[in-house]
Amino acid sequence: MRVVIVGGVAGGMSAATRLRRLSEETEIIVLDKGPYVSFANCGLPYYLSGEISQRDALVVASPEHLRKRFNLDVRPNTEVVKIEPEKHQVIINHDGQSAPLHYDRLILSPGAKAVMPTIDKTADASEIFTLRSIPDVDRIMAALKQDAKTAAVIGAGSVGVEAAENLTKRGLKTTLIEAGDHILPFMDYEMAAIVSRETTKHGVKLKLNHRVTQLADHQLKLSDGSTVQADVIIAAAGVTPDTELAQAAGIKTGDRGGIIVDDHYQTSVDDIYAVGDAILVKQLLTRKLASIPLASPANRQGREVADVIMGRHRRNLGGIGTAIVRSFEMAAAATGLNTAQLKQSGMPYQAVHITGQSHAAYYPGGTPLSLKLMFNPKNGVLYGAQAVGKAGVDKRIDVLSVVIKHHMTVFDLPEFELSYAPPFGSAKDPVNMIGYAAENLVEGLSDNLQFDEVDAAVKAGAYLIDVRNPKELERDGRLPNAVNFPLDDLRSRLSELPKDRLLIVSCRSGQRSYIAERILKNHGFKVKNLDGAFLTYSAAY
Ligand code: FAD
Repeated sequence: MRVVIVGGVAGGMSAATRLRRLSEETEIIVLDKGPYVSFANCGLPYYLSGEISQRDALVVASPEHLRKRFNLDVRPNTEVVKIEPEKHQVIINHDGQSAPLHYDRLILSPGAKAVMPTIDKTADASEIFTLRSIPDVDRIMAALKQDAKTAAVIGAGSVGVEAAENLTKRGLKTTLIEAGDHILPFMDYEMAAIVSRETTKHGVKLKLNHRVTQLADHQLKLSDGSTVQADVIIAAAGVTPDTELAQAAGIKTGDRGGIIVDDHYQTSVDDIYAVGDAILVKQLLTRKLASIPLASPANRQGREVADVIMGRHRRNLGGIGTAIVRSFEMAAAATGLNTAQLKQSGMPYQAVHITGQSHAAYYPGGTPLSLKLMFNPKNGVLYGAQAVGKAGVDKRIDVLSVVIKHHMTVFDLPEFELSYAPPFGSAKDPVNMIGYAAENLVEGLSDNLQFDEVDAAVKAGAYLIDVRNPKELERDGRLPNAVNFPLDDLRSRLSELPKDRLLIVSCRSGQRSYIAERILKNHGFKVKNLDGAFLTYSAAY
């Protein structure tokens, strides 16, 4: 049997090597239109600053190595220009020469392509680079070496944020331009706002709610009429499945051109399979098809499609999407659905925020860790989680991704026995703590309202109480319209509180205000807790 694979990086090469481990007889041919296969696309941004200093480190395995170790026929610089399913062949183009190549099974892993923003360009417009391959990064490095002093990155998703960090670390004055109202669109507004602060603190100029409209020479014009000078411009405005080839062959595609596959990665055309960024997968929470263009699913799918082709029982179970990114010292990660996705899918949800510590507060070096959960308010099934902080973000989100993928509930979180010693965590880990907080909400011990609801509630007559100590208010700032009742004075000052109005309680992170909420509820007041309290409110505004 001959298996031909289009695309020799994450999904394609995982499929090829697994196929070989399962069968010595199968002929395996891997075609890639680029000069490199098996390269570290996720590492490219870090090469811009020199954090990854050796270009060679970006190439994980060479065609020679893959031939020797896995007996793979790897052909770089070979583009598949046409698929002819009825003849079971592809037309390949190498060195300007076209030739047919027969397949018994064809695996497509062509990945995604950069979305280019629509910009009016003058004749002398400078180049807009993309950052997807080693040749892309070579072109950017060549431009940087022309004494570049300024840079602009269009799009503040993960790749844009990483590019902005690395260009800044290289010494360029960098502007990050984003059309939306927050960076990192996979995160929610108030969580991303914490990362924005870190990004600007390190010198990146952030332009939110701005579109690039025109480019002349090295000057970008933005939607508000302002201009940005940039010696080097990188577009990182997202990706879309690279599936023109598949579509031309009559393979069925869906949203944004993503290839539709069944549970066994089989496309609508016999003997043609597809994996990676090019396909749509079942989102396990919405049960709808979605694009999840990330490295871990692509690698897993590559391995699984090899199993399927070799007759092993393996199914594409779908995904939830789990991502992490660093901006300078801050990490941001998310798993499952975010607020925008939940609203779009019409799923009722409740959110809860906490701010804990990366490890035991009494042990030196701990840093704040902000966590957010979204869950079904009736049965506590988890839908999404987000975390931001300088340390421990990956550990918490990885735990929560397992929880969400396996449809667990907020009631499971307090039961988790997570590894603990003071340098690593807390006896009550933030994952346990947010479980307690969410459990209280589902069981009706607590009610909350969000940072973006509190101002309207106060306007409508609610009475906002801040239970921090006066010194904290002076040091950290005040919530607008809040009256200060320090927690320890609350019981003795109950007569000062209106019984006929909704009381909203807040503190620094939400822990003391929960105690206040319980005191007040036990005395017959109608109370809600400002979720995430002052820290979340002040991060957002
Ligand atoms: P790819 O790995 O993109 O491989 C597709 C290959 O197919 C390409 O080499 C292309 O040349 C080839 N090809 C396409 N069409 C043809 C054709 N017609 N003929 C021959 N060859 C063809 N994901 C994460 O989870 N974490 C990260 O930190 C992260 N960082 C990233 C940083 C950058 C700069 C980039 C670009 C991506 C990053 N990703 C990250 C995404 C991750 O790299 C992808 O999800 C993953 O590589 C997808 O694998 P794939 O096999 O579908 O496609």
